[in-house]
Amino acid sequence: MPTLTNLDLQDIQEARQRVCRTFPGTAFSSQAEGQYGVSDTVTIDLDVRKDGRKFRLVGAFEAQLELGCCRCLEAFSWPVSVDVDLLYLPASDGMGERDVQIEESDLSTAFYHDEQIDLVQLVDEQFQLTLPMKPLCRRDCRGLCAVCGGNRNATECKCVEIWEDPRLDVLRSLLKQ
Ligand SMILES: [Zn+2]
Ligand SMILES: [Zn+2]
Repeated sequence: MPTLTNLDLQDIQEARQRVCRTFPGTAFSSQAEGQYGVSDTVTIDLDVRKDGRKFRLVGAFEAQLELGCCRCLEAFSWPVSVDVDLLYLPASDGMGERDVQIEESDLSTAFYHDEQIDLVQLVDEQFQLTLPMKPLCRRDCRGLCAVCGGNRNATECKCVEIWEDPRLDVLRSLLKQ
């Protein structure tokens, strides 16, 4: 049963067809694995070009994602717009239901099964690729105080962070004896 989150290739009758869809953020919760949240909706705008059994998807995916800052741990909004240009080929019969792993150097080619392309999965993959390694709420995020744990962007605490050279521990224990 084809669902809205799938692109049913049997519906593509023209050589060129525009596919615009809006997905609720909840469609992504199971696939996000805590890596990002979707603030509102995800919109996709694709120009689907059909060439026999080959389908080329050209367009963009847009959303307001929600990421967690790696320094202060606060959630922040991260607008994303991903341009895509992907070629879909039918998975050969020999491959069956087995997942086809695409080499990193060949990300622009993918395979479809049963005349369906899972658009939510595709968008998720594309978003994962654009996520920053170290998300920051702002470039000069001051992070959390190592002493009281307070968010130093919000409040100026009076804690003094003293760093003691661990190599001196041996010396200190000797002095105590
Ligand atoms: Zn931060
Ligand atoms: Zn503090």
